[in-house]
Amino acid sequence: MTGRIVKIALDSPLDTEFDYRWLPAQTADSEPRVGQLALVPFGRREVIGLVTAVGDASDYDASKLRDVIVLRTQLEPLPPAWLDLCRFAADYYQRPLGEVMLPSLPTGLRTASTVALDRALKKRATARPVATVSAPSAAAVVPLAAADTVNTPDHARPADHHAAGARTSATVLNPGQQAAVDAITAAQGFAAHLLFGVTGSGKTEVYLHAAEAVIAREQAQGRSAQVLILVPEINLTPQLESSVRARFPHLQVVTLHSQLAEGERLRNWIAAHHGDAAIVLGTRLSVLAAMPQLKLIVVDEEHDPSYKQQEGLRYSARDLAVWRARQLDIPLVLGSATPSIESWQHAGNGRYRRLDLTQRAAANAQLPRVGLIDMEVNKAPEGLSAPLLAALRARLERGEQSLLFLNRRGYAPVMHCDACGWISHCRRCTAFMVLHKPDRRLRCHHCSLEQRIPRACPTCGNVDLQPLGRGTQRIEEQLRTLFPQARVLRIDADSTRRKGSAQAAFDSVHRGEVDILLGTQMVAKGHDFQRLTLVGVINPDTALFSQDYRAGERLFAQLMQVAGRAGRAGSAGSTGNVAQSAELAASGSEPAIGMQRSEVLVQTRYPQHPLYRALLAHDYAGFAEATLAERRSAGLPPFVFQALLRAEAKQLQQALDFLQAARKLMPCEGIVINDPVPMTIMRVAGQERAQLLVESASRARLQAFLKPWMAALREMKSRLRWSLEVDPADI
Ligand code: ADP
Ligand code: ZN
Ligand code: ZN
Repeated sequence: MTGRIVKIALDSPLDTEFDYRWLPAQTADSEPRVGQLALVPFGRREVIGLVTAVGDASDYDASKLRDVIVLRTQLEPLPPAWLDLCRFAADYYQRPLGEVMLPSLPTGLRTASTVALDRALKKRATARPVATVSAPSAAAVVPLAAADTVNTPDHARPADHHAAGARTSATVLNPGQQAAVDAITAAQGFAAHLLFGVTGSGKTEVYLHAAEAVIAREQAQGRSAQVLILVPEINLTPQLESSVRARFPHLQVVTLHSQLAEGERLRNWIAAHHGDAAIVLGTRLSVLAAMPQLKLIVVDEEHDPSYKQQEGLRYSARDLAVWRARQLDIPLVLGSATPSIESWQHAGNGRYRRLDLTQRAAANAQLPRVGLIDMEVNKAPEGLSAPLLAALRARLERGEQSLLFLNRRGYAPVMHCDACGWISHCRRCTAFMVLHKPDRRLRCHHCSLEQRIPRACPTCGNVDLQPLGRGTQRIEEQLRTLFPQARVLRIDADSTRRKGSAQAAFDSVHRGEVDILLGTQMVAKGHDFQRLTLVGVINPDTALFSQDYRAGERLFAQLMQVAGRAGRAGSAGSTGNVAQSAELAASGSEPAIGMQRSEVLVQTRYPQHPLYRALLAHDYAGFAEATLAERRSAGLPPFVFQALLRAEAKQLQQALDFLQAARKLMPCEGIVINDPVPMTIMRVAGQERAQLLVESASRARLQAFLKPWMAALREMKSRLRWSLEVDPADI
């Protein structure tokens, strides 16, 4: 056996693959294969790379090439389809291939010693049924080194998922759900479905039945199948995870998200890559997991902004999911009560097939009544208006739950001195320091700078500094004063810092141990709260006047989502879900919560605003059509395609100068390059930031421009930090 030349992708900003020489160390060594991981020398370090080509020639002097140290032959090579997916992402988002491939792999694969990898693989081979597991949460944090002795539920399932996946729930689909499942499973090859279902319409059941049908169909033909279910944030959708596990007790279900312990993430990833895991439930990063038998992709809450990665490879997991389904020629389901404007447009022009669920699924469950509280009339210096307080009181008297939504954490967004006008600016950002009263600190939410609350005004010495505006902590304080007997729970990023605490908090809401739940967007998502009959929205108006053209779309989705938490349970005797009715009865609360009484109250100073009018009517379709018409006439996405070049420097002028120079690098026919402008929050952590927006009516033309432009930009070898985002989310 002779030596070969291999091309290797490395996690390096240089937009190239690197040539290495491979020499068989022993006669038993097998030839390198495309998709294998390899340990190679790079500069003075040894790093893991990925073999992208194997050949006999190099453009470089072969005698000067360095040698591959070792190939990771224990792991199956990454499959060609996965390499193509990475190539597409690298191309489309204008990133070096290695910076797409390597970071998408679990850290354990990129850094772990061969010994650790062997151990993870051995673990896979000896996986046993789950019977002996008692403490899954403890098992989840066991480091890789100790993994041999612990069975976690994720991978402890038997690997023979080719045996049938028995159903445990007897849920009978309603006609709308059945029609949706039929359409998805009837699809031959690639087909994108937009599952447009009002909140509580039972989209989860559609995903699960479709997954089951696809797996069963493949099994009938003697093949195995894998299903990928993407969710926005796994910690906010624990119910989905348990539903999936309960529904497929004989299949291996694994999760993939950034909060998994390293060892577990490695094992789960390997289970997906080797086809052992029939179902992968993951956040955006799992769209890049290798799944050789992938037969169906589901994107739940497809409109959710967290599908967009905001650093490094700034990809949209939703868009990559669509690409991947097309590449593999398999069906795809995008589910939402408030689809993204892009997906809505595709449904309108026939590229996606729309499947509607217009009714709530649970027996007699109805959408809540939405009311607007005019804050010009109902002055509320303390933040909570009289009608909202009355509605809260009524729920407390009836023993029902309420939810208050305020998308601003902290006690007050700013502190202020009445005497001299001082306000709590962050000295490193163009932003305010937010008052966090429980830990007596001012904190900048942009750069994390912290300081004690000043005893006196730093400018004039006045000791009577005042909080301005209100965040969740302040509303919580008011609720405790106003309703001392009520059990109030606040859920936001501050109250759920500890691992597992968010889950514990939501569990206590589900158990009925909370009367008033208060929180940020964390409480708005997917939860199926069974006893909740009132949702109050506190002053969402600021988003109406945002510079960001997507702010309205986001606000509407958020309000529909949070409104959708109310009135989800049906009346007594509902046939839908025995477990839930039993749970209600056992908790001692009245089994029949009169869902006709469930309501959503929005405090606003602009009750006539079209966005709120559409909300009153639960009219997402109307809102989306109006938004599309506006975007068309304003020349905004999805009618134009954009890329955003950002730069940061010590001085704003340096950043602007760089962008000006970038602008003049290339002729740009069919492309509009706007003037460089400072970003809305211009300074963060002492860096001045500016941006340049590039637009075209043609995606292809924009792509054709970006590639050489990026090469020219790299050639400039500027020392300031810059980055490009294709299809930017916020502008
Ligand atoms: P969505 O994700 O569309 O907001 P969910 O999937 O959370 O809705 O379902 C809402 C509720 O309806 C859940 O409690 C679920 O158990 C129940 N449900 C779903 N399908 C049915 C059905 N066919 N019959 C009765 N109840 C159902
Ligand atoms: Zn002062
Ligand atoms: Zn700051």
